[in-house]
Amino acid sequence: MPRAKRFEIAGRVIAPGESADVQLDFSESYLGRAVSIPIRVIRAKKDGPRLFFTGAVHGDELTGIGIIRELLYGEPPKLKCGTLVCVPVVNIFGLENHSRYLPDRRDLNRSFPGIQTGSMTSRVASAVYREIISLCDMGVDFHSAAVRRTNYPNVRADMRNVAIRKMARAFGCELIVNSKGPEGSLRREACKANIPTIILEAGEVWKSEPGVVEAGMRGCLNLLKSLDMIDGDLVPPLFQVTVEKTTWVRAQRGGFLGFHARPGDLVEEGDTLATNYSIFGREQNNLTSPITGIVLGMTTMPAVKPGEPVYHVARLSEPTYRRIKRTIERSPAGGAYKRLRRDLATNIRLES
Ligand SMILES: [Zn+2]
Repeated sequence: MPRAKRFEIAGRVIAPGESADVQLDFSESYLGRAVSIPIRVIRAKKDGPRLFFTGAVHGDELTGIGIIRELLYGEPPKLKCGTLVCVPVVNIFGLENHSRYLPDRRDLNRSFPGIQTGSMTSRVASAVYREIISLCDMGVDFHSAAVRRTNYPNVRADMRNVAIRKMARAFGCELIVNSKGPEGSLRREACKANIPTIILEAGEVWKSEPGVVEAGMRGCLNLLKSLDMIDGDLVPPLFQVTVEKTTWVRAQRGGFLGFHARPGDLVEEGDTLATNYSIFGREQNNLTSPITGIVLGMTTMPAVKPGEPVYHVARLSEPTYRRIKRTIERSPAGGAYKRLRRDLATNIRLES
C-alpha cells in the first residue's frame, strides 16, 4: 500500500484517520497578540481529495458559518477517503468589527492570492492562500448577497472547466451562474492555480437562514458523495439550470416599493416586479422584468432612489422557462424549492 501523503496545516501534522482543530495565526492585534483562524480538519485513513469549505471571507456574510456548523454539529461526516478542511470564518477582523471589509477598508475577496509583505489585507489574503487554500485540491466558498439584499441560493462557477462544472452540478442547487468571478477573488485565484473552486451565494448578510443552511448542507453532502468521500445517493434539486446572463432591474423614481416577486420566482418579460409609490401612497410607476427568467436576488429595503438595484433576474430561454414552470407546478407544496422560497425574504411584504 502506498504511504499516505503528509498533511500539515498551521504547523500541525494531521495523521491519516485523525480529526483536529487547529489555529492558524495570521496577524496580530493592537496588543501584539496573535490573531488566528480556527480550522477543523477531518482526515480519513485513506487518501483522497483534499477539500476546503470556507465562510465569511466577507466578514458580514454568516451563511458559511451556519452551513459548516450544521455539517459538523452532532455527527460530523465520516469520511471514507480524503481530507476536509473547514474554515467557518476567514475574515476574522471583518466579523469581529461588524464589517464586510478589513480594518484598512480593503476587500479581502479582491486581494487573493495576496502578498506576504503587502498591505494588511494583502497579508491576510496571502496567509489564507498559502496556509489553507494551496494545501487543497478543490473547494467551496460560501457567500451571501450584499447588504440589504437577498439571493436565492445559487452556485457560481466557471462552467467551461470540466472539474468545476462537475462540482457545480453535483452541489445540486437549482441555479448555477456561469462566471469566473472577479479578479483577486478567492475562487478565481484558486481556479487559476488549478484548485477547482465554486461559490454558493445565498440569503442575506448577518443571518443564518434555515432554508439557506438546508440548501448549503445538502450541497456539501452532495459534493462529498460525488467525490465518493462519503456514502449515499445525491439529493437532486427540483430542477437545475445554468444561466449565462443576468440583469438588474433598477428603480426609476425615488419612492417606496410594493414587491410582487420573491427570490426563486419565475417571471416573464413585461411582468410587474414591483410598484413604486410616493411616500403618501400615490402610485408612481411599475418596475417590469425586461426578460423572461428567474429571480436570482432582490433588495430587502423598500425605500429606493433612482438607479438603485431592486431585482436581479437571470435570463432563461423560452423552452427552459416552460420546462421549469411545469416542473414547479407539479412539485409538492411542502417540497424543498417551495419551502426555501417561503423562507427567504420573510420580512418582505408581498403584494399580490
Ligand atoms: Zn461575499
